[in-house]
Amino acid sequence: MYPETLKIASKQLPYFRTQEFSNMMLENEVLFQESIHAPSKAKTIFLTASGTAAMEAVIMNCFTGLDRLLVINGGNFGRRFEEICEVHGIPFDEVYLDFDELLTEEKLNPFEEKKHNGLLVNLHETSNGKLYDIHMLSEFCKRNGLYLIVDAIGSYGADSIDFEGDGIDALIVSSQKALALSPGIAIIAISKKLYEERISKKGSGCLYFDFTLYVENQKRGQTPFTPAVGTLLELHERLKQMQQIGMLQMQREIQERALQFREYLLKRGFEIPGFPLSNAITPVILTPNAKKMYDRLKEEFGLVVTPNGGELEKKIIRVGHLGCLKWEDYEKLLLAMERIRESL
Ligand SMILES: *Cc1c(COP(=O)(O)O)cnc(C)c1O
Repeated sequence: MYPETLKIASKQLPYFRTQEFSNMMLENEVLFQESIHAPSKAKTIFLTASGTAAMEAVIMNCFTGLDRLLVINGGNFGRRFEEICEVHGIPFDEVYLDFDELLTEEKLNPFEEKKHNGLLVNLHETSNGKLYDIHMLSEFCKRNGLYLIVDAIGSYGADSIDFEGDGIDALIVSSQKALALSPGIAIIAISKKLYEERISKKGSGCLYFDFTLYVENQKRGQTPFTPAVGTLLELHERLKQMQQIGMLQMQREIQERALQFREYLLKRGFEIPGFPLSNAITPVILTPNAKKMYDRLKEEFGLVVTPNGGELEKKIIRVGHLGCLKWEDYEKLLLAMERIRESL
């Protein structure tokens, strides 16, 4: 987390049904929409929940058992979209990708039949670092008349996102990833089209997640229920900071960190996957010692990277590039990784 964020997090929380808080929330909306190139007609919802709740809420507000969705399943987070569909009884087909497989036109070809209503994708499948081609998906959705639902939780801030340019209908972001804030807030941008054609007509079947309540309240800078006030204050400071630096510049800095780290890894004989990677993380292939590397980095060097669960547990560790990190941090990590490798 950035020092500015920590400073805000250390203060008392204000009462929030006030004009000051409303003004801040209206600014948050404008700044967020600017950061993803969303038109002013788009709606922004600030939901007090984790990212998964936002994924679920989008589906509850937009689709029913009469729809048929297409899900890109290239890992844990793609699978999560499927689990949500299963729980809500929404039929879907999947584009399944193995660890080494790319999402290509050929993979989408069997689904060029205009029988789906929406496409669900995690722009960056954060469980393995794979970045999908949003332009290709966008064209596919336009050709086939699908709403494009993008979970950008592992991508926002690190990879370029163009809400309007790519015809995105719903975009989901979460406070604890690239924004490097406390957990608790999910931000959802919705296209005018999706809002008018689906959300305003459908009803979510759930009070807390009813998007129409959020959109109505946000018109005056409020939320229907008590939000994670502290995280929203952190968000305001961060969005202002990001506007000052510029989204493009911020992405460039994260990308530079990622590319430099990857170059060093390869020079020192470490292996990384060949598929297109998000700038947000670097997966390092350490089969079968990934879990051991994670444990020893933490125990012997006090360095915490991200382990994987399930079948990738022994295969990869993930190294993040988001937030307040400096090149010295990576130098320390690389030295420690080499030391551990000698005695694995
Ligand atoms: C982190 C993440 C989520 C959200 O997880 P929560 O723990 O529910 O906040 C969802 N999708 C992707 C791609 C993620 O990286």
